[in-house]
Amino acid sequence: RNIEKYDVVVIGAGPAGSVAAALLRQQGRRVLVLEREQFPRFSIGESLLPQSMAYLEQAGMLQAVVEAGFQYKNGAAFVRGERSTAFDFRDKFSTGWGTTYQVQRAQFDHVLAKEAERQGAEIRFQHCVTGVDLDAATPLVTAHGPDGVAYQVEAEFILDASGFGRILPRLLALETPSDFPVRGAIFTHIEDGISAPDFDRNKIRVTVHPDHCDVWYWLIPFSGGRCSIGVVAETAFLEQYKGTDTERLQALVNEDPASRKLLQNARWDTPARAITGYSANVKSLWGRGYALLGNAGEFLDPVFSSGVTIALKSASLAAAVLQRHFAGAEVDWENDYAVPLKKGVDTFRTFVESWYAGGFQNVIFHEDQQPEIRRMIAAILAGYAWDEANPYVRESKRRLTVLEEICSRME
Ligand code: FAD
Repeated sequence: RNIEKYDVVVIGAGPAGSVAAALLRQQGRRVLVLEREQFPRFSIGESLLPQSMAYLEQAGMLQAVVEAGFQYKNGAAFVRGERSTAFDFRDKFSTGWGTTYQVQRAQFDHVLAKEAERQGAEIRFQHCVTGVDLDAATPLVTAHGPDGVAYQVEAEFILDASGFGRILPRLLALETPSDFPVRGAIFTHIEDGISAPDFDRNKIRVTVHPDHCDVWYWLIPFSGGRCSIGVVAETAFLEQYKGTDTERLQALVNEDPASRKLLQNARWDTPARAITGYSANVKSLWGRGYALLGNAGEFLDPVFSSGVTIALKSASLAAAVLQRHFAGAEVDWENDYAVPLKKGVDTFRTFVESWYAGGFQNVIFHEDQQPEIRRMIAAILAGYAWDEANPYVRESKRRLTVLEEICSRME
């Protein structure tokens, strides 16, 4: 049987896979994307960061995203008890987009996939990758379509964008545990019925649990009067709540008086879902003939909505390395891909760790904040975690520790 040949096979048509496919098409490469599901399909990860707009633009997908009619987003609001603070991403240290969208991922991912196809990428939906052979002269991918019949495709390079599927980390035993404790999330979509005049639909609202600083809720307004709502906590904490996932989520939301009041007229019309143990890491983000994009590599934590932005950044970096590779240049995946990608991931990591320990919460809820420092923090919250001109990127750990100390002394 003839084995099909492509320049690049991309596993998964999530944001990382579709953007990588479009960027490779711009270079004239023959690209095949194998996607396990039929689109549209549900996915979690609905609040984008403005930094991601640059990669959508680069991939030629911005117009389609803008025209899809998603909820406009210009910032993030944080609430803890009586205190609240809101960051407007247009007022930030780094240059670049200051606004973005809050998206139903079923529709958003479908828009991106159609854009990749429009640019000439071939996407096979309901085709699941089950194996790879990287010892062959040219890498081989094994997959099967809806008929269940296995077939092989030859590719000069494989990009694993399988997200939580983590197909290559599993097949190649690359997985390592995350440093974070095992947390889980319970979430759903609601018809929110919010009438409070001070509620800002243009911002994600992150609420800290009144008694536990490491437990938090997200409320992500969509266009059309609906919201995504979810809670994140260590799995042992979540296990205390019994019943259906909807009942557990409602019980948790009711523990926060402000959320209970805000959502008093909500219609819970969609069964909630739960996910645990999503944080993950790998030994290496690349090897001979392959690289890992987005969540197939490292996933930190959802608190700063950084996942899709990191996924798109990884696609952009990998496409640039592949351009040089196909032009016959020597490429160094570690220094040209893994190191620069991890730089921003590590910035987010510092802030995520500090969030759960409570220090970063004390910083953002502090009453007397310096505008310039706030603009530097706003830039990171807007996703500009790779901008080395920002001192809170360049030296994130040291700077944030100092800031935490100042804020705790002044409390
Ligand atoms: P995915 O979007 O997961 O896409 C992977 C694709 O690969 C899927 O379509 C899947 O069907 C396909 N696939 C899997 N296995 C195979 C296979 N064997 N063969 C073929 N195809 C396969 N991020 C944000 O930016 N904002 C947020 O607000 C946010 N909130 C989050 C909340 C929670 C609770 C969690 C857990 C994550 C959140 N994230 C958020 C992170 C976000 O979900 C991910 O970072 C993002 O979806 C990663 O994109 P991706 O393209 O790498 O993978």
